[in-house]
Amino acid sequence: MEKLDDALQEHYATVLSRNPGEREFHQAVLEVLESLGPVVHKHPEYLHQAVIERLCEPERQLIFRVPWTDDQGRVQINRAFRVEFNSALGPYKGGLRFHPSVYLGIVKFLGFEQIFKNALTGLPIGGAKGGSDFDPKGRSDAEIMRFCQSMMTELYRHLGEYTDVPAGDIGVGQREIGYLFGQYKRITNRYESGVLTGKGLAYGGSQVRTEATGYGTVFFTEEMLATRGESLSGRRVIVSGSGNVAIYAAEKAIQLGAHVVACSDSSGYVVDEDGLDLALLRQVKEVDRQRVSVYADQRPNATFVEGGQVWDVPCEVALPCATQNELDGAAAKVLIDQGVRAVAEGANMPCTPDATRLFQEAGVLFAPGKAANAGGVATSSLEMQQNASRDSWSFEHTEQRLQEIMVGVHGRCAAAADEYGQPGNYVAGANISSFLRVADAMLSLGVV
Ligand code: NDP
Repeated sequence: MEKLDDALQEHYATVLSRNPGEREFHQAVLEVLESLGPVVHKHPEYLHQAVIERLCEPERQLIFRVPWTDDQGRVQINRAFRVEFNSALGPYKGGLRFHPSVYLGIVKFLGFEQIFKNALTGLPIGGAKGGSDFDPKGRSDAEIMRFCQSMMTELYRHLGEYTDVPAGDIGVGQREIGYLFGQYKRITNRYESGVLTGKGLAYGGSQVRTEATGYGTVFFTEEMLATRGESLSGRRVIVSGSGNVAIYAAEKAIQLGAHVVACSDSSGYVVDEDGLDLALLRQVKEVDRQRVSVYADQRPNATFVEGGQVWDVPCEVALPCATQNELDGAAAKVLIDQGVRAVAEGANMPCTPDATRLFQEAGVLFAPGKAANAGGVATSSLEMQQNASRDSWSFEHTEQRLQEIMVGVHGRCAAAADEYGQPGNYVAGANISSFLRVADAMLSLGVV
């Protein structure tokens, strides 16, 4: 990755001092600023108008208590966040994460990334993120429902289809979105479908939203490979994670002829040389909510490696789809030595800066999450379009729109990388292209 330009050093120092201890947020800001040196030299107006400082300071940050009662009648207290980062392009848009690791620094990193990701889609959506340190693992449906209802009892006053529209993320799927929407509807007495995305199909959800992030990541990967006259067909692929993004990335890769042989969760990884059986994986993870080892128990040639790193499994294409900083420099070296040709981030910031640099130096095609996983939020925006027009589109039509959007995201990244003299550098291309769109909108709107 490039070094931080002198013109931006002071801005980054300010971010560090104003946001102490928020390691992931610092990392996300640095990764964007490192690409922007040539941009601010060409367009000094962005510095004169303090666009970088404004972009790094969220428009609004909410932190609130979520009290709820568990199945034993004990009162539990969690902390929840919503960071409404930037609304220059449209209403705040970004998911909610339920995971014990959630704190303000994680939510700000995700919200910051979301601004640029949303801009890359070409759609009218601003950037936000939220979540809670609530751990859904091992909780009953009734506990999940009470938690979601309590969280929405505070959150609702900050939301609206023209204001702020949350969706899912780690630990928040269709079940949680349903409970959140139910409580929003009850409190407000409004059937405002467009206030949340990732809804069930029976009450305003969109076809393909469940599959969108994983499918989009694979569409982007296919576009990258095509620039070298290659494709996914016949390629050996591994995914990390076995949640929403991982499962549907694997599904689309298989549909395109790839051989997907490994996936993981926080307990370890599974290798299945026969190719992943997705029906079984979905049963284990989505329906039974079990550990990934249960999958291996039911497949003749699958093995489970407890606590191991899935990156040790040889592959040609790696799709990190679990969580931030899950693939470090050492893992990147192993992947490169074993012949990886393309890496696309289905998760947000899963590769450490070291890993990203190593992939780029080795000439591996590398897609940053803000580009590769933009299909999720793009399809959320399609869900909002359908809600606003009281319409619902077919699976085929929605998937085709998703694919067109991902081709557009790839094209914008590639064009910006070319324009700024770094052909094939999707990190620079994604950062520059999205920054220009948001920055120009901010300049047009004045100092607000
Ligand atoms: P899920 O909760 O459905 O799945 C997450 C998966 O990652 C699980 O397999 C989980 O394992 C694993 N995981 C989570 N945290 C850790 C950890 N600390 N260490 C190891 N493994 C971990 O989440 P999603 O699939 O929705 O999200 C995955 C990633 O994709 C996140 O980075 C998210 O921000 C990003 N993303 C998601 C979008 C979406 O539409 N859902 C859109 C764009 C990006 P376990 O069950 O053991 O915890």
